[in-house]
Amino acid sequence: MSLLPILEFPHPRLRNHAAGVDAERLRDPQFQRLLDDMFETMYQAPGIGLAATQIDVHERFMVIDVSEGRDSPLVFINPVIRKRTEQLRVHQEGCLSIPGIYADVTRADGIEVEALDRHGKPFVLEVDDLLATCIQHEVDHLDGRLFIDHLSPLKRDRAMKKYEKLRKDRD
Ligand code: ZN
Repeated sequence: MSLLPILEFPHPRLRNHAAGVDAERLRDPQFQRLLDDMFETMYQAPGIGLAATQIDVHERFMVIDVSEGRDSPLVFINPVIRKRTEQLRVHQEGCLSIPGIYADVTRADGIEVEALDRHGKPFVLEVDDLLATCIQHEVDHLDGRLFIDHLSPLKRDRAMKKYEKLRKDRD
């Protein structure tokens, strides 16, 4: 396994709209290896989710593990959020593609998501809390959306100024 480079904001390809994964691709051992590498990259970062867009692969899949023990890996291929609760949840989000920036984002508290697992088997999950937040964040990536897009202009400006400073300090 190996660590994958992660695209960082403002990389223009973070704005790509990812294409669907076809069934043939799931049978490709290289694709399975890519999923393993994504988990390794996510765990090492450390993060709780990683979308293909972030590793410069523009297909609709993502990996997630929100468990404390880092032992509940979830793969979502071609995820579609079918339902969102009216009840909302605020969570301080961060993103491996915008390192060092954290901000409160409001999203649906609960969702129903439909996807394929890594072997192409369809499943439906009804989830809430952190996992629901994380799935919505990762599906956003596949549509070229970032968590900072959900902030008010004022808060986004503030976050971006901080981000520019962090990047300058790092160079
Ligand atoms: Zn992210």
